[in-house]
Order: sequence, then structure tokens, then C-alpha cells
Amino acid sequence: MPAFVLQPPAIASVAVAGSAERFAVRRIFCVGRNYAAHARELGNDERDPPFFFTKPADAVVDSGTQIPYPPLTSNLHHEIELVVAIGKAGFRIPRADALAHVWGYGVGVDLTRRDLQDQAKKAARPWDWSKAFDQSAPCGPLVPAAKSGHPEKGRIWLAINGAVKQDGDLAELIWPIADIVSICSDAVELQPGDLIFTGTPAGVGPVQAGDRITGGVDGIGEIAVTIGPPRA
Ligand code: MN
Repeated sequence: MPAFVLQPPAIASVAVAGSAERFAVRRIFCVGRNYAAHARELGNDERDPPFFFTKPADAVVDSGTQIPYPPLTSNLHHEIELVVAIGKAGFRIPRADALAHVWGYGVGVDLTRRDLQDQAKKAARPWDWSKAFDQSAPCGPLVPAAKSGHPEKGRIWLAINGAVKQDGDLAELIWPIADIVSICSDAVELQPGDLIFTGTPAGVGPVQAGDRITGGVDGIGEIAVTIGPPRA
């Protein structure tokens, strides 16, 4: 180990269900749009390729956290997502091998400063300021795939103060998990510790300071975070 001029930062990590051990996070990749509003036609693949953006590893926060309402926005949105945790490195992973690179799964919320994203889209600017802010990636405890299996269907939902706002099913994923892992690995060599947020179903909307966000994916787990007042 070299000597560092400043103390190295803490390793970002996510809880593991039923374990005192944690999953060290290396990078966070997110899929832009991945749920079909309508069933796609059989045998006729008209899917646009998925696109990705990223968040810093230390944007992860545990379920149970109170997250301050972030700066620079008046339209903070929730996006409930299945999170894939990579356990084995791979570059240009064939689709048929992709699930062998998955260590486990979790439930995350891709918090989004929607007003900044709308401005960025209009101006053809990067999404970073709308997506990659502090504490923008709450993630519930991961379940090992050895326990959960690799989900192909199952309810994915989010509620605000108990009122359900998003209610979808993993079966509606335009690009299922194996495709996402394979396609992401065409762009970067995936590494153990990488997380992939796989996109959100319909029903995204604003959250306010004081709101309690709960969500889950059947067979995987749940998450609950509260949005607090803005930082002083
Ligand atoms: Mn998202």
C-alpha cells in the first residue's frame, strides 16, 4: 500500500440480507429506460438498444436512512428499480453466460432531480447533475442469487406514505437481466462490486421533504427511506 497524503475514503457498501457482511461497491451503472408500456410483438425485436448513465459508488445509502432533500431541485423524483450486484469480472460477456456474473439482487431507488434532467435533455447536456448527486442511490439489503435465483418476473412497486405510485412486474423488462449485464460488459469490463440499476416501471413522480418512500421486488426484498428537510 502506498502512503496517502489524506486518509483514503471509506469503502462504499450495501447491506447483505441476513448477514453482518457487506457488499463493497465499485461502480454504479443505471439503465435509462427499460419497461415497455405495451407488450412487444413476438418474434419482432424492435427494441432500441439500452443506454446507461452512472452514479458515484458513494451515492449508495442503506434502507432506513433519512436523506436530506437535495439541493438545486424543486422536483425530486422516485424511480424504484431492481439492482443487480456483479460478483465476477467480465468483458464482452455472452448473454448465455451473463447470469453467472451476478452475485445477487437488491431493491434500489434511482433518485432523480427531474427538473435538472429536463433541462439537460433540452440542452443536450450530460445527466450527471440530475442523477449523480449525494445519497441519490438508496439500496436495500442484497440477497445472494444462490438464495433468490435469477428473477424473470415478480411485482416491483413503490409507495409514498403508504400510497402505491409504481406497480409493475419484472416480466415487463424490455431488456432482461442477462441482456443488461451482457450489453453493459460490451462498454466496460464489469468488476466484482459493480451495481446495475435496471430501470424503473411507470408511475414515477415527485417526493417532498417528510415523505416516507417504501418499495420492494417480490422474492428479492424491500427498501424504506425518508426524505428529510434540505441541508442547512
Ligand atoms: Mn432510473
